[in-house]
Amino acid sequence: MNSLILETQNLTKSFTGFTAVNNVSLSFKPQSITAIIGPNGAGKTTFVNLCTGMFKPDSGRIIFNGEDITNFSPEKRVQLGISRTFQIVNIFPKLTVMQNVKIPLLSKGRIEELENILGIFQLGEKKDVPASELSHGDQKILEMAMAMATKPKILFLDEPMAGVNPAERSRIVNLIKDLRYEEKLTIIIVEHDMDVVFRIAQRITVMNRGSVIADGTPDEIRNNATVKEIYLRGVEV
Ligand code: ADP
Ligand code: MG
Repeated sequence: MNSLILETQNLTKSFTGFTAVNNVSLSFKPQSITAIIGPNGAGKTTFVNLCTGMFKPDSGRIIFNGEDITNFSPEKRVQLGISRTFQIVNIFPKLTVMQNVKIPLLSKGRIEELENILGIFQLGEKKDVPASELSHGDQKILEMAMAMATKPKILFLDEPMAGVNPAERSRIVNLIKDLRYEEKLTIIIVEHDMDVVFRIAQRITVMNRGSVIADGTPDEIRNNATVKEIYLRGVEV
């Protein structure tokens, strides 16, 4: 058994003359929470898109549990246990909460898990509400529930706090921590809320202009001069 669940080796992806992800080599331990931070346009979402198969890299490799998955389709990666949520909520607004969660469960033949998933995400009482009528925070949570319905081993969360109010942020933070311990999940979170990032991550990776400029524990990142200058800019963390 490999002690790393996911590893990227020299991943590079360019869009018409512009390098969005530049030679990124990162590795992730099982059941860890890593935050990827950095300014807008740093390449964070592109990195997630490469790992989840939405884009193919121009060069480099992606290794999941010891297997080279660089050329696997997104569907195949979901089957292996790699799932994600999106920066912009990606749910079926006209369907109810329950119908939304049923879609990935049916595709995985796991419909008996419905009540359990609704319970974990505290969506049971809202199961007959159309997704469009949920608060923004609950929509983000529903999307996490849909991602978890595929029974992933690793979950990418792209800005789960974007547009979410403070009370709902606390709920999402607690859910993420519970998922790590109770579902033994590896979590990679892209997030701008530094309060959240420093509360939940064991490790923080900082990207700027496509490259990793720092990678370490929260304390190491907090005290990193380059990170302070480029990204934190006086924000107390
Ligand atoms: P972040 O998530 O860190 O804000 P992104 O990965 O979304 O950054 O974007 C990195 C850069 O790549 C940006 O300049 C963005 O405009 C560009 N980019 C991302 N996706 C595409 C795409 N599909 N086509 C062209 N350019 C893209
Ligand atoms: Mg992004």
